[in-house]
Amino acid sequence: MPSALITGITGQDGAYLSQFLLDKGYAVHGLLRRSASADVIGERLRWIGVLDRVVLHDGDLMDLSSIIRIVDAVQPDEVYNLAAQSFVHASWQQPILTGNVTGMGAVNMLEAVRIVAPKARFYQASSSEMFGKIQQEKQNERTPFYPRSPYAAAKLYAHWMTVNYRESFGMHASSGILFNHESPLRGIEFVTRKITDGVARIKLGLADELVLGNLEAMRDWGHARDYVRAMWLMLQQETPDDYVIATGRTVAIREFCAIAFGHAGLDWQKHVKTSERFMRPAEVDILLGDAGKAQRVLGWAPGVTLEEMAAEMVEADLARHRAARG
Ligand code: NDP
Ligand code: GDP
Repeated sequence: MPSALITGITGQDGAYLSQFLLDKGYAVHGLLRRSASADVIGERLRWIGVLDRVVLHDGDLMDLSSIIRIVDAVQPDEVYNLAAQSFVHASWQQPILTGNVTGMGAVNMLEAVRIVAPKARFYQASSSEMFGKIQQEKQNERTPFYPRSPYAAAKLYAHWMTVNYRESFGMHASSGILFNHESPLRGIEFVTRKITDGVARIKLGLADELVLGNLEAMRDWGHARDYVRAMWLMLQQETPDDYVIATGRTVAIREFCAIAFGHAGLDWQKHVKTSERFMRPAEVDILLGDAGKAQRVLGWAPGVTLEEMAAEMVEADLARHRAARG
């Protein structure tokens, strides 16, 4: 039975990847950082129905000794480094923590693998945010990077260190440059989930308005379930490499509002307000990915449309609020 170790297993992608790998017959292990709010740990894994099928190990990406011990004990065939301070907006408030966890954390993981499980295949969760102020209309693996936030700069460091460990030590280390991907398990502070949660609250009479920031920004949004499949495909290749994963369609925040509110039969313009509070010191205006290489080499293509995903997210948030109301 192949085994995988996932850092960030309690996050959105960690939950979908766990489910995907369990279905493939893997033994799935995850890194779990201690929290005083133990009751909410594993909420996503529970939601997706795999909490009791994964093995969780106490550790933290910032604590190299804990990671070394876990990698040594598990001796995984595949390591997926998904852990990060992943929220761009928060990275201006906590640039040093973001640098440590999102940047240096990846190096801790690479070191742990190099020291105690050098044959393990390694996946690094890189991000389209690295393209930032875009240098090419459609971004692919050869597009120059221009990070626009402490988060993006930290991801860029982690990305290049992954490339460097591949080239320096011959490690099977791949970097997936994933464009935004969402689901009902997306963190509530990210704009899609904030919108679908707002739609549900407004629909159920729990709120009347939703306050957002820049409605003109455009993103290439896919579904997390499709994107974790791409991660796995990268590690099944004989040769490690870097791949852009995207849908090739970009949509403005205001259009996403129209789709999500429309699904619930609501007019978004009656409810959405904007505030400076949610604007960023530097914005990434538009992202649009070219996943041609992933399609050619991995045989990967997205399966879920934006409309289907928005509908699924709105329905899940309606169900959550109805359940909470009793
Ligand atoms: P989430 O924010 O949902 O999950 C982040 C995970 O990292 C959580 O499990 C969190 O644990 C964990 N974590 C944070 N700090 C530490 C630490 N110090 N030690 C151990 N674990 C830690 O992210 P997603 O699932 O959405 O994304 C997965 C990865 O992919 C991230 O690296 C993200 O930056 C990257 N990415 C995501 C994209 C997206 O659109 N979703 C796009 C491109 C890249 P806890 O639950 O305890 O907070
Ligand atoms: P990101 O692409 O990783 O930063 O993902 P987000 O979902 O956090 O943000 C996507 C885009 O939505 C960015 O350009 C934000 O400026 C924009 N946006 C507009 N209003 C909001 C808001 O209220 N919250 C968030 N998180 N983003 C917003």
